[in-house]
Amino acid sequence: MQRKSQKQPAFALRRRRQQLLRQLPPLERLLRGSLIVRYKPCGKPGCKCAHGPGHGPKYYLSVSYSGRRPQMDYVPQEYHAQITECLAHHHQVREILEEICEINRELLRRREVL
Ligand SMILES: [Zn+2]
Repeated sequence: MQRKSQKQPAFALRRRRQQLLRQLPPLERLLRGSLIVRYKPCGKPGCKCAHGPGHGPKYYLSVSYSGRRPQMDYVPQEYHAQITECLAHHHQVREILEEICEINRELLRRREVL
């Protein structure tokens, strides 16, 4: 993979790094994991869900930990939007941090000040 940081002068890399910092989402609004959708039958006799996908959608936040089983937390419908937003923030933060690290690695290779 060709890194775009390789072609730019050092000042442009540092400027890009500053831009990236300004693009960071609010860091208190972070969640790691993924949103899982479930439809569950209620078990009541005669309910239409017995022959369909079940009641739902019901949302769960699934968070994985190395060496352990993923943990699931129920997400009430009214929390769905903000949970989705916080999960997206986490992806953004990771991408931004990764790009900053790439820039710093490129500066190191050029023996520039980080
Ligand atoms: Zn039912």
